[in-house]
Amino acid sequence: MAVERVARFRDLLADGPAEVTLKLQFSVSPMGPAQAVGRLGGSVPQTCQRCLQTVMLELDQPFRFALVDSDRAEGKLPEDMDRLRLDENGRISLSELIEDELILSLPQIPWHPAGQCDGQVASMLDGLKSPVEETETRRPFSGLDALLKNDKPESD
Ligand SMILES: [Zn+2]
Repeated sequence: MAVERVARFRDLLADGPAEVTLKLQFSVSPMGPAQAVGRLGGSVPQTCQRCLQTVMLELDQPFRFALVDSDRAEGKLPEDMDRLRLDENGRISLSELIEDELILSLPQIPWHPAGQCDGQVASMLDGLKSPVEETETRRPFSGLDALLKNDKPESD
């Protein structure tokens, strides 16, 4: 899968190597709708909002979607069940699913863990005035591209 297809997610990251892994299974039950079940993991760089340096964040985002192909099928689902609509060819948009879940897996405000951050909360405004130092080699998404190529659905 091309990195461009998760552009909204990429825009949230700082420069640096990113790694994303995807586990995905489809389960079919006679008692209910088919489901896509999986977990996103990996580690990605974001900018710490205290010190404005790069912080590597671990991703761990489980997900479960009921697959539906019509309004009628969707209406039968329990209210609280996440659903994914199949397109007219009976396929799901995997990149859309992945991107939404990736974005959800990021913290709203990325910070270093306590004790690992050089900055103070009070320095946030100061940080905005000074340019961010870039010490890291620029290799945006060198790992993500390769990993997301392996996104074929597995059936069990
Ligand atoms: Zn920090």
